[in-house]
Amino acid sequence: MIRKILIANRGEIALRIVRACRELGIQTLAVYSEADEQSLHVQLADEAICIGPAPSNESYLRADRILSAAEIADVDAIHPGYGFLSENAEFAEQCESCNITFIGPRSDTIRKMGDKAKARETMEKARVPIIPGSEGAIANEKDALKVAQKIGFPVIIKAVSGGGGRGMRIAHNAVSFTREFQSARMEAEKAFGDGSLYVEKYLENPRHIEFQIMADKHGNVVHLGERDCSVQRRHQKVIEEAPSPFLDKTLRNRMGKAAIKAAEACDYVNAGTIEFLVDAKGNFYFIEMNTRIQVEHGVTEEATGVDLIKEQIQIASGNRLSFTQKEVSLTKHAIECRICAENPSKNFIPSPGTIDLYYAPGGHGVRVDSHAYGGYTVSPHYDSMICKLITYGRTRKIALDRMYRALSEYLIRGIDTNIEFVKAVILDPAFRQGEATTSYVEEFLARAPKDLFESKKDD
Ligand code: ADP
Repeated sequence: MIRKILIANRGEIALRIVRACRELGIQTLAVYSEADEQSLHVQLADEAICIGPAPSNESYLRADRILSAAEIADVDAIHPGYGFLSENAEFAEQCESCNITFIGPRSDTIRKMGDKAKARETMEKARVPIIPGSEGAIANEKDALKVAQKIGFPVIIKAVSGGGGRGMRIAHNAVSFTREFQSARMEAEKAFGDGSLYVEKYLENPRHIEFQIMADKHGNVVHLGERDCSVQRRHQKVIEEAPSPFLDKTLRNRMGKAAIKAAEACDYVNAGTIEFLVDAKGNFYFIEMNTRIQVEHGVTEEATGVDLIKEQIQIASGNRLSFTQKEVSLTKHAIECRICAENPSKNFIPSPGTIDLYYAPGGHGVRVDSHAYGGYTVSPHYDSMICKLITYGRTRKIALDRMYRALSEYLIRGIDTNIEFVKAVILDPAFRQGEATTSYVEEFLARAPKDLFESKKDD
């Protein structure tokens, strides 16, 4: 039995975990940086401990301080959320050796899937389709170029330890390849402390469709259907929805089976996501596995009715999954917009600062996962996402109309946001017809009038 959980995160996900624990009657300990003293997760948790100054590498990334807080407050489990230490195998290992339950997969699984080149090998062995590319990491650019020439241009150069769309470069020919390879290496070294790279065939205009997996410690693995996350900017998701407007029942079943095979190939336990790219013909290819809860998990929750965070905690406590494959399906349509403190008309430059006025939308079929409030200061130290606005309903049309309505109600003043931008996307005929691929945002920005999505910071 888990009595008390330390939440090793901040912002909306920390709040989301506090809420799940409350409903389960589990005590919570928030840890926070000096910049987050006034944060909602700190106010709402049962206890809170400050773990250092604002920069993440002095607070939320300090495993030693988090484990000390765990010991002081005598917790029996840690929920890492997403980002920060959530996919850090060493941290999971340290929790294991301190006899603290890490709410996630085992450290060896995290390690195995955290190396994206190795993950490809594991999937290939398990006969999950992968994109043609290099076998493992490539030692130098000469060898990499040989691989690129063999698979044919364009290719994408990716960081073995990559995440968040960083350390990725596209090369269209041998001339640009060397330059892109060097720049990917530099970015990967800076972002992940690991410059190892691999190469894949670059798919033109694919869709990003991922499958939610849940696995318990008794060998049961179930998928909870897909999320379509094709609306991306710089390889980062902006809008996600379930079900995907592109999948039919047959393809969903085939991809779901492949996702389960992928999870079984690494003895997966707890919540995980298998990400695929899908071409226009319906061919699908594994790109990576995320060994944690995803930002966009709420979309699956509203489409299926399953509380994924509670399920994660139950699995970590040793319980069996509370549903079978037959009992779970996407019965509603759900869509999420990531609301960020940024200015779309100035190339999406982040816009930290104090929110003077805040009014969140509500009503039938609207869910607001946010740590923001009037008077809250968005810190420049962290991610600019301030809210995940989710709407849902019986059909895609209902969910989209509801999203437009909710976005129109949303008032955030004092800082710039991308609300007008996502509103324009929700109205766009190409998006409404379910045609968005991963190149959609770039195409949309090229054809949309510049003043269409100007932020309404001071209105
Ligand atoms: P990260 O871990 O940084 O998020 P992913 O491997 O998940 O990186 O890829 C992120 C996005 O980059 C994908 O959703 C897709 O838009 C693009 N991408 C990645 N690999 C390819 C590829 N081989 N061809 C085309 N686009 C790709």
